[in-house]
Order: sequence, then C-alpha cells, then structure tokens
Amino acid sequence: MSAASVPVSLHDLTRAELGALFARWEFSPVHVARLWRYLYWECVASLAEMPELPAKVRRRLADETRLHTPGIALETDSSDGFTRKYLLRLEDHERIETVLMRYTGRVTACISSQVGCAMGCVFCATGQMGYTRHLTPGEIVAQAVHVQRVLRAQGQRLRNIVLMGMGEPLHNYDAVMQAMEILRDPNGLALGAERITLSTVGVVPGILRLAREKRPLRLAVSLHAATQPERAALVPAAKKWPLDELMAACRTYSETTGRRIFYEWTLIEGKNDRPGDARAVGRLLQGLPAQVNLIPLNPTAGFAGAPTRTEASHRFQRILAEEFKIPSTVRQRRGIDIAAGCGQLAVAEKN
Ligand code: SF4
Repeated sequence: MSAASVPVSLHDLTRAELGALFARWEFSPVHVARLWRYLYWECVASLAEMPELPAKVRRRLADETRLHTPGIALETDSSDGFTRKYLLRLEDHERIETVLMRYTGRVTACISSQVGCAMGCVFCATGQMGYTRHLTPGEIVAQAVHVQRVLRAQGQRLRNIVLMGMGEPLHNYDAVMQAMEILRDPNGLALGAERITLSTVGVVPGILRLAREKRPLRLAVSLHAATQPERAALVPAAKKWPLDELMAACRTYSETTGRRIFYEWTLIEGKNDRPGDARAVGRLLQGLPAQVNLIPLNPTAGFAGAPTRTEASHRFQRILAEEFKIPSTVRQRRGIDIAAGCGQLAVAEKN
C-alpha cells in the first residue's frame, strides 16, 4: 500500500476536521460529537466500543480511517510509586516513551514528539540513540489518550502535559501544534494553555514562530550552560543556534507573548553546578521574566558526568534567589530507578 493510500488516523484530526469529513460523507454533526466523546472522554481503543454510532457510520470509519492504539512494549513503576513509565509500540514497531508522573498532587503526562532525536545532547539517552523519524499528530495525541485511559480507570483525569519525552518538539513543529490543538479541545481532554509545557533545546526559528503565532502554552528552554563554548559542548544544537541568538529569541518571545520562560538547567557535578555557574546564569537571565528549573543529571551509560549533590543544588538556588531575585525549583529525582530520564527505557530495553 502506498503512503498516499493509508487511511487517515482519527487521532490526527481536530474536531473541525472530523466535522468537515462527516459533512462530506453527509453524516449528522451529532455523530461527530459522539465520536469525539468516545475518542477523548471514554478513550476507547476500537470502533467496536462505540455502540452509539450507527452501523453505517462505523462501517465508513472502518473503511476510510484507522484508530490505532499503541501497544505497551514495557511498563514499569518507580519504587516510590510516583512515576509509571511506558514504552509504547507504534504501528511500524518503533518505540517511544511516555511517562505518567504524580508529583505534589499534579497528574502529568510526559510525552514524546519524535522517535529518537537529532539534537544529540551529550548527556541524554535519546540524543545518544540518534534520530529515526518524526511522530505524527495522532501518535503524539495517542500518548496522552493512553495516559488518560489509565487514569480514567482509577477515577482520575489527566491535568498536565509536558513535551519533554523523546525528541525536540520544535523540530516537529506542525505535528506538535496540531496535536496540541486536539488535546486542548474543550469537549475532549480540555488541557488549558497553562497545563501544556513545551521544552526545547533552543531551536531559534521555532521559538520565534511560537511567539509570532502566540501559541497558548508554557515554554521551557534547556540552557545547561551560560557561555557559548560550554553550552556547545553539552548541546551540539548550540553550534547552529548560538547562545546570543537564543537569548534574543527568548526576549522576543517574552515581549511578544507576555509570558515568562522556564529555563532548564541539568546539574552536573563539578561541571555546571558551581557558584560561578549560578552567577553566570543569573547575569544571563537578569531582567527577563524567568524561572529556572534545576534538574540533577540522570546518569546515562554514554556520558561520564555525575548528578550534582543536594547541597550544591541548594547553593545554586540560593545564589539565584538572593543575588539575582530569580525564582527556581529543584526537580525531584523520582523515577531514576526506572530509568525515567528520556530515552533511558528504550535504551535499557534494547540492551
Ligand atoms: S535532551 Fe531533548 S533535545 Fe536533547 S537530545 Fe535529548 S531529547 Fe533531544
């Protein structure tokens, strides 16, 4: 079957697009509302689980669309029970990671945007794997639906999404934005703008496009170093989009959207967790609406660095707060025992 003849995935379509499809087929809009409810409220996995749709509608959907539910290749819980990680199998048997996190009363899905990643951050298991392909909007949406299905069975609801799994979301801009539109739909998963966080390694054209289009989401930018040579050594993408261009784009983003940016800093012992590093990032971000998220390194086989010690991360935080009035958080390292750093489960499963 040629790519052109593959039936459209239902999870690829916004409600308006489904409406247009049903209008073309001369089916009542009532059926669109029912189908949408099955897809995003009940999170069903097959057309057979949609008894309220007339048989002729289900037949047409079966003939001309597809509804794929990713299989679970592996699933594992962290020992503290706060994190469950899924390795999901796609239709072409590629595998991606999706994580359900329950920190401080927040239920969050960490979802992937690509199979592998082209950005090559040296400390990241996904970066060490290299890039395979972009995910489709439906494959991004299906991860959130998977998590919602799990939560629904427990009487809970998905509240937050972070695009911090495998891949660089701004490298797959159109598919990610289509997926976010579907996930934000008020008659479906209804995730609000403040509930979706997109994390980028610093793809400057993508940040400027987000600003131009005023996309309703929260932006996190991975900094990890406050000088161009140090950053380029950790994040090869910095050679293409240097630090000064990145910071100019971040300024434009905040000025255009009125939103603050979350700056992510992976703390690596003795490399970027010293008082001088804290002061360098403080100077870099001074005057910008910013919050710094400090993340002790997830150790990976392909990188020799060690996670920072607790005292060093607290010292870093104190310097940012007292000398620069920049708020920061230290992300809890729960889930490390299940390889919760992005890409680590996929690598572990291959070995
Ligand atoms: S940290 Fe993110 S951008 Fe960098 S290689 Fe890993 S997945 Fe890609």
